[in-house]
Amino acid sequence: MRKKEKVKRIISVFSEKYGKPRCALDYDTPFELLVAVILSAQCTDIRVNLVTRELFKKYNKPEEFADLPVGEIEELVRSTGFYKNKAKNIKAASKKILDVYNGTVPMSMDELISLPGVGRKTANVVRAEIWGLADGVVVDTHVKRLSNRIGLVKNDNPNIIERELMKIVPVEDWIDYSHFLILHGRSTCNARKPLCQDCEINDICKYGKKVLKSKHD
Ligand code: SF4
Repeated sequence: MRKKEKVKRIISVFSEKYGKPRCALDYDTPFELLVAVILSAQCTDIRVNLVTRELFKKYNKPEEFADLPVGEIEELVRSTGFYKNKAKNIKAASKKILDVYNGTVPMSMDELISLPGVGRKTANVVRAEIWGLADGVVVDTHVKRLSNRIGLVKNDNPNIIERELMKIVPVEDWIDYSHFLILHGRSTCNARKPLCQDCEINDICKYGKKVLKSKHD
């Protein structure tokens, strides 16, 4: 099966299985999402949601964070790890949003990555989630592992993988493709023990076919 056809199958099978994917971080406004994504670096989504549930009850606007002493933000986000850096970035990003963008989270990639603490990965999540915009395919550890196992790419470098995937995944599926592979990586295609026997795409997966064949031989 050609790679583009495999991608089509993957999107269709996983749409059935996982439904319309959405970001696992809780938020009500674009600014809340931005803060949650900054906090999610090296931290689980569950922990971030626990922290932001309390945090956003007290403060959830750029003007509030811009005015808060950084030490107070640190205490509020401490349990997400790397809290000093995260607090500093949240305060500085809030100031810039107020001073330069009239208090609104900007939409363009260039403007977003000009905010302190916001790299391409964070900007990609915010653009995809809030406005449905995609500049590329997000390649995290799951997308990297699964794309290789399935046989869509043969590389370890996330930048090269992203370029390869952008050629074979239709642009309207860039966001869903990453979401689906992350969900499937967590539920079925684990790093150490992939459950190929139970996997819905084992008939088109290079690695899965090999594993199942060796079991039958
Ligand atoms: S068949 Fe196995 S290796 Fe392939 S995607 Fe499914 S679980 Fe992963």
